[in-house]
Amino acid sequence: MISMRFSRWAFALSVGLLLIVSSFGLPASIFAEPVQEETKAGNTIYHDYGELTADLQAIEFAYPLLTKLESIGQTWEGREIWAMKISDNVDIEEPDEPELFFNGCHHAREWLTVEVCYWFIIYLVENYTSDPTATYLIENRQIWVVPMVNPDGREYDGGAQGDEPSSYQNWRKNRRNNGDGTFGVDLNRNYGYMWGVSGACSDTSSEVYGGPSEFSEPESQACRDFARNHSFVGSISFHSHSMLILWPWGWSFEEPPDNEVLSTLGVEMSNNITNLAGSSSWPYTPEQACGLYPTSGGDIDWLYGELGILAYVTELYPGGSDGGAAISAPYNRFHPREDKVIPVVLDNIPGMVCMSMIADNPNQIIDHIVLTPNPDSQLINQDTTGYYMITAHNDGKRTDTFDITSSGPSGMTINHPNAINLLKGGSMNFTLDVTVPAFYIGGDYTIWINATSQTNPSCHYGTQVTVTVPFYYDTAIVSHSPFVENGQYPQGSIDMTAEVMNLGQADLDPFNLTCTISQMGASLPNPVFTEDFETDLSQWTIHDHDQSQSSSEWKLDPAAHNGV
Ligand SMILES: [Zn+2]
Repeated sequence: MISMRFSRWAFALSVGLLLIVSSFGLPASIFAEPVQEETKAGNTIYHDYGELTADLQAIEFAYPLLTKLESIGQTWEGREIWAMKISDNVDIEEPDEPELFFNGCHHAREWLTVEVCYWFIIYLVENYTSDPTATYLIENRQIWVVPMVNPDGREYDGGAQGDEPSSYQNWRKNRRNNGDGTFGVDLNRNYGYMWGVSGACSDTSSEVYGGPSEFSEPESQACRDFARNHSFVGSISFHSHSMLILWPWGWSFEEPPDNEVLSTLGVEMSNNITNLAGSSSWPYTPEQACGLYPTSGGDIDWLYGELGILAYVTELYPGGSDGGAAISAPYNRFHPREDKVIPVVLDNIPGMVCMSMIADNPNQIIDHIVLTPNPDSQLINQDTTGYYMITAHNDGKRTDTFDITSSGPSGMTINHPNAINLLKGGSMNFTLDVTVPAFYIGGDYTIWINATSQTNPSCHYGTQVTVTVPFYYDTAIVSHSPFVENGQYPQGSIDMTAEVMNLGQADLDPFNLTCTISQMGASLPNPVFTEDFETDLSQWTIHDHDQSQSSSEWKLDPAAHNGV
């Protein structure tokens, strides 16, 4: 049974009308027709697990073409962990539509995080066709939302009232029975990337107990398997509180390989987050997750480190300098007063939209160029020239001119344009021609090609091509038979064949061939027969000995060397 919560809706609408339109153009009225089923005594805007389950099912019922609800796993106490997909053609995977992953409530008491996830779903489905941004995202993205990663912990934290901030238990972890009288693992210390390396805690009673092993918990396993089964470009894991936007690494102060995209997107999201909540700590502070001290086992390090997902934590309202009745008893910083919920939701949707909009190509927020050689390796003979086609694609944020430089082995002549102009989104091909001097000995040589933005010298991109120079004279025994080691040849006639290949550049090269047969004994092998083929081949029966062929075959004359 679904009961309408008109008071909540009326409040959402009034806040919506006040919405400061972000750069992505959220409409003034973004919510309609909330649905909710009460399963515990509490009756606040906050969703406990039963209410969330009922509301997600109601959304799927109301929007069967736009939403799909599935369980990604079960908790210790047997609750389903719900994931909702929002997209057109929702029942099929559409590889051309980038996937996004938003989740909340890794930590039980962080109730606001559930609401941000839940209302983002509502924003998308309620505004499909009426709002260009929501319509675009539904038609061009595959958005997955897991509002409550840790329902066991959330239910425990809610106490008997479920969703009344006054009855909270201040619980953070899940509800694993640790077997020593304590309960719970910090799910955000349990992910299997550099697990336990820094900020580790093996004390089961600790708030940040990382678990007995990495991915020991069904909730983190569910998120792991879910992420592996998709191709997420970006993710936000919502936490509270402190008004931060955090990106990898959490375990180390090292810069991540994609630091420029990660930090730029972090700043962009911060720039889009509004302040309807009226925080004195606004704006949200973007920074690397390790912050003042490293912690390991967080989900974003694993999502980024193993899967390359642009993974963020957003710590919600309130900030450190916020005070007042909204977060004073019976409320607190994890469970702010109800009238803060929708403003915090509305503040954060533009950040989620920001990430979703750029997911088709995250490089579009930075200066960026990609060079793709074709071919990326080829054989070039001494004293000749080979050509590589290099495709340059400016997938960065603006039209730019790029200096092209190269470096290669000394003596090789490498020609290419000195600079190229590329419109934003534009591509062009240029030719790299490489001349190998006559004296070059055979082998593989690497040439680096670099493009550097004239506008922003920190924007540079390198790629490489391989020049394979042939050896002029080169041969190999590519196969032979029989091969007996520590064995015994039978008496009589034995066929031994060997295939010789000319791997060099020159044709019909006169190779010297030598055959040695040794008697194996307890000491060193004792040569009993050596033939260098240079004087005559009288000791051999010759089959197919023809220098015009790539292989020839000889037989040892059994009359001359019977028994060897
Ligand atoms: Zn948290």
